[in-house]
Amino acid sequence: MKRNILVVLLFWLLILQACGQNKENQTAKKMGKNFEVKKTEQEWQHCLSPEQYRVLRLKGTERAFTGKFYKHNEKGIYICAGCGNELFKSETKFDSGTGWPSYYDAIPGAVVLETDYSYGMIRTEVLCAKCGGHLGHVFDDGPQPTGLRYCINSVSLDFKKQ
Ligand SMILES: [Zn+2]
Repeated sequence: MKRNILVVLLFWLLILQACGQNKENQTAKKMGKNFEVKKTEQEWQHCLSPEQYRVLRLKGTERAFTGKFYKHNEKGIYICAGCGNELFKSETKFDSGTGWPSYYDAIPGAVVLETDYSYGMIRTEVLCAKCGGHLGHVFDDGPQPTGLRYCINSVSLDFKKQ
């Protein structure tokens, strides 16, 4: 009888431990893989603003219509706020009406795509190919010539004027 209680207790301990691994840890681990620019979470926290860290490293989303590049129409190149990688050309930016800067194409090789199952949806996540930073998502309801809509957080971006 005592042994049974012990087994049940051990079982619950295992479950509690599994639940205790929070999402941030899992995200950090997953993002540490195979990217050219590698930093510890502490280093990222040090070199990014809290909002940049929340979006780029913890896969957060900025509030719609609040980002600095939503209504931005200058000529130049949008780069990764985490590592400076050139991501999107201003010629491919369009007004999607969604509240986030939107592009119909990325610079070749600049981003990698991953399937994202969070929040009960199946979406395609867009990551910086150099540092693995979370940029946003890509949808297939964009304009020609690609038909794609890269829906990107302003806070993940910086801008190089041409
Ligand atoms: Zn990057």
